[in-house]
Amino acid sequence: MAATTERILNFAAGPAVLPLPVLEQVQRDLIALPGVGMSVLEISHRSKPFDEIIQGCEADLRKLAGIPEGYQVLFLQGGASLQFSMIAMNLLPAGGAADYIVTGVWSQKAVKEARRVGAVNIAATTESEKFSRVPRQDELKLDPNAAYVHYTTNNTIYGTEWHYVPDAGNVPLVADMSSDMCSRPIEVSRYAAIYAGAQKNLAPAGVTLAILRDDMVKRTPATLPTMLQYAVHAENKSLYNTPPVFPIYVMRLVLAWLLERGGLEAMERQNIRKASKLYREIDRTGFYRAHAHADSRSRMNVTFRLPSEELEKQFAKEATAAGLDGLKGHRSVGGLRASIYNAFPEEGVAALISFMQEFEKKNG
Ligand SMILES: *Cc1c(COP(=O)(O)O)cnc(C)c1O
Repeated sequence: MAATTERILNFAAGPAVLPLPVLEQVQRDLIALPGVGMSVLEISHRSKPFDEIIQGCEADLRKLAGIPEGYQVLFLQGGASLQFSMIAMNLLPAGGAADYIVTGVWSQKAVKEARRVGAVNIAATTESEKFSRVPRQDELKLDPNAAYVHYTTNNTIYGTEWHYVPDAGNVPLVADMSSDMCSRPIEVSRYAAIYAGAQKNLAPAGVTLAILRDDMVKRTPATLPTMLQYAVHAENKSLYNTPPVFPIYVMRLVLAWLLERGGLEAMERQNIRKASKLYREIDRTGFYRAHAHADSRSRMNVTFRLPSEELEKQFAKEATAAGLDGLKGHRSVGGLRASIYNAFPEEGVAALISFMQEFEKKNG
């Protein structure tokens, strides 16, 4: 392939952009990990070098997110989609019911899988408003006897994000953080379980993170298939079977990169800066319209419409030609979506804003 190796601006929702210094290090270490003489792609998951990688990954995540004692960190497979099932299979006891807050396609899928396991109550949904916002606390119809409350912190497809942690009282709170994990500080102690497919903001596809409070791990029914038991993965420190060695190695580099850049507070400041510049441009003249309500706007996935579908198509096409790729919105919302995760450069947001201004001048 004699194509250019110059990097374009990647606005894709996931798998998504990774930090350039991380890719450069992966490339340097690909033939032989320093001091090991083998590629990370060829290494045994039971070897000492890999032990250092997975333990370092967990230690850095604990430091970065402030994960307290009493929580297990697991590196799993099957994506966030398998967590839709595992959460219910492990945490929803026979005869119990769970509360789900529905704010988009991914929460709907989580409900669908939980219903195969047991009873699910919809504590709130914003479907009638095309998922253009997340519910307020006073709209949540929570059952104080629920086995847990499940919600999606960032709605990747609709471009909405929770800017508060819902108060579930004494009921364990479970969050799908696939698309905003590590984009801002997390009050881990407010949660009983957090999970995230890594390919949005943490690593390449293939590893799924689960952070579980010890009492949640203890809920695992022994009748579940072994690979679906949180307790088995916790007892074996994510090494019951072969874990996804390469994505875990890359996640470790991404976490080190985040620590070097000042941790999650610094990331949040940067993400607020990037997203607010973009929303300011969207709101400026009325040519562009944001999908999300002002109080629910995502800092990770910025969704917006143009005056017509023809213009939206033209926008996406011309943007791609100009080196701004992946802006076409998800088929269920239409319009445009700019995913601007941690690793997406600030200059890339500036480039999109210039492109938007030019496009409006020509077509507005
Ligand atoms: C992408 C995504 C998922 C699905 O993740 P997979 O790892 O592909 O299963 C689930 N939830 C959210 C919020 C997502 O963004």
